[in-house]
Amino acid sequence: MADEEKLLKRMNVNFDRCKGCGLCVTACPKKIIEIQNEKLNSKGYYTSRCIDDDKCISCARCAIMCPDCAITIKVIKK
Ligand code: SF4
Ligand code: SF4
Repeated sequence: MADEEKLLKRMNVNFDRCKGCGLCVTACPKKIIEIQNEKLNSKGYYTSRCIDDDKCISCARCAIMCPDCAITIKVIKK
């Protein structure tokens, strides 16, 4: 029996491109994106981040929704 392939999905936000508008938070069907309030980026915004990578289904709704193209989705086979 072949080893099961594990797919790691990672939503990544470009820290300095994000303007903290929250559209990606609304778009995510798994509700795993939040606007962090710990660190401002170079434009003076608090940015979004994924809070549970294991729940991400790589649907890319967040990336499609982002007006600043700040989100990339990576799927890594392990
Ligand atoms: S890819 Fe889909 S599930 Fe993953 S963070 Fe973006 S909207 Fe949520
Ligand atoms: S939609 Fe884009 S700009 Fe808006 S909070 Fe999400 S990543 Fe940042």
